Amino acid sequence: MTHNALTKNIVIIGGGITGLSAAHRLKELCDKNAVRLDVTVMDARDRLGGVIQTLKRDGFLIDTGPDNFVTAKPWALALARRLGLDSELITTNKAHRSALVVRDGRLMPIPEGFLLMAPTKLMPILTTPLFSIPGKLRMAMEYVLPTRKGINDESLASFVTRRFGREALDRVVQPLISGIYTARPETLSLRATMPRFLDLERQYGSVIKGMRAAGKKRKSAQTATGSGARYGMFVTFKGGLETLTNNLKDRVKDFRIAIGTPVTSIEKINGPASKWRIKTKSAPPVEADGVIIAGPAKNAAALLGDVDPVLAKALSAIRYASSAVVHLGYKRKDVSHPLDAFGCVVPITEQRRIIAASFSSVKYEGRAPADSVLLRAFMGGALNPELMALNDSGLIETACQDLHDLLGIRAEPRLAVVSRWPDSMAQYEVGHMERVADIRRRVHGHPGLELAGNGYEGVGIPDCVRAGEQAAESLFTVVQE
Ligand SMILES: Cc1cc2nc3c(=O)[nH]c(=O)nc-3n(C[C@H](O)[C@H](O)[C@H](O)COP(=O)(O)OP(=O)(O)OC[C@H]3O[C@@H](n4cnc5c(N)ncnc54)[C@H](O)[C@@H]3O)c2cc1C
Repeated sequence: MTHNALTKNIVIIGGGITGLSAAHRLKELCDKNAVRLDVTVMDARDRLGGVIQTLKRDGFLIDTGPDNFVTAKPWALALARRLGLDSELITTNKAHRSALVVRDGRLMPIPEGFLLMAPTKLMPILTTPLFSIPGKLRMAMEYVLPTRKGINDESLASFVTRRFGREALDRVVQPLISGIYTARPETLSLRATMPRFLDLERQYGSVIKGMRAAGKKRKSAQTATGSGARYGMFVTFKGGLETLTNNLKDRVKDFRIAIGTPVTSIEKINGPASKWRIKTKSAPPVEADGVIIAGPAKNAAALLGDVDPVLAKALSAIRYASSAVVHLGYKRKDVSHPLDAFGCVVPITEQRRIIAASFSSVKYEGRAPADSVLLRAFMGGALNPELMALNDSGLIETACQDLHDLLGIRAEPRLAVVSRWPDSMAQYEVGHMERVADIRRRVHGHPGLELAGNGYEGVGIPDCVRAGEQAAESLFTVVQE
């Protein structure tokens, strides 16, 4: 696309899934409305995709960051379909759709029907050795406990302890939640992360009652079976998640892609029309009619100090944690555990170093050679930030110690890959929704500026797709005015 003075131009800072979704939506809008826009995607790294990265090594297929996404939030799936990637999508394997939890040093199944925060089936809870009898009685009391009125937000830990008791929190909910957010439930906002549970309490007077009612309505086998996360609803691509970002990259090839281009600051140019000046380390400043800062809120905070210090301060209040994923490949015969689940989560009370592990080759086909298995161990996060100081061999050794013990592994891994994701996991702390509402009000005062990414209305890939697309849609309108 050639640039002339009349063509409006937009700069997208960040070429992860958020920025690429924004660029692709702009392309769709330009095509649909026969409008020309000059769009540049700038990324500090030497590749696009952000934390989405797929490696192929020694017959293993490794997603080094995220490895799948939910379909219940429809935006990533809808995008994949618009890109014509239907036939590339795969769901989790039908066998072993369950999760394990460590209890007293051993792996045991999370009771069937335990969906993230709440049990929905009676028998599995009655018969599991995971909880004590007083713990089970306490959980059952949820059915009749009075609701607490007037709460707009509270921590996940406060909610679960209040409704289901401490044992439910310590033995299942904390490890499941920490496995997703790499955070402590004591700090996480219920309203921002799992608002459905607060709504169920309000609407039905009990979470169990509400979930059973919703389950009856749905009667979907996928949601009614399984434990832990709702595995039937997860999908990925045969060739790994990079299929999505690579495809987006191809679709926006008419736009300018500037990788290896760290943006250092943004300025507002005062004049009749609001314009923006984007300064980078490696090239002369670029002027733009609109800017999307697509990616972690922390990065937006670093860029907006001169434009709006109050906004920058509010953005920097959204904290981020760093994490590492250690990918380990073994010969199947060297792992004595049956691996009859998609993975395991580890309660803080067990005092191990890994937060969770995925049995990737059990979860999705094509992740390991036929005689091998691929495991992923999650480390660091807000739970064990000190582990991030270990070098790669230290992380591998630590992950192996925990996994060898838990899974009865008798050999060294034949493949070990470490990926580090500094400051990538947003921590939605209590009060997050108010913080984001303030940020949105402030951004509204700067026409031509959009913020999108995992720091605001959702951390998952579908949320980021939606955020990027919405930012593109509003900017498309603003720059036409
Ligand atoms: C280890 C891990 C596992 C996860 N697992 C899942 C999962 O299974 N399913 C799921 O749905 N979600 C998962 N998530 C969350 C989800 O992957 C992320 O929230 C999402 O991919 C973030 O996308 P993004 O584009 O907003 O940010 P990023 O992917 O972080 O991309 C931001 C980009 O901006 C660039 N950038 C930053 N600052 C600048 C600057 N100043 N100038 C230029 N460029 C800049 C960066 O280089 C980066 O490429 C996981 C996240 C991690 C870290």
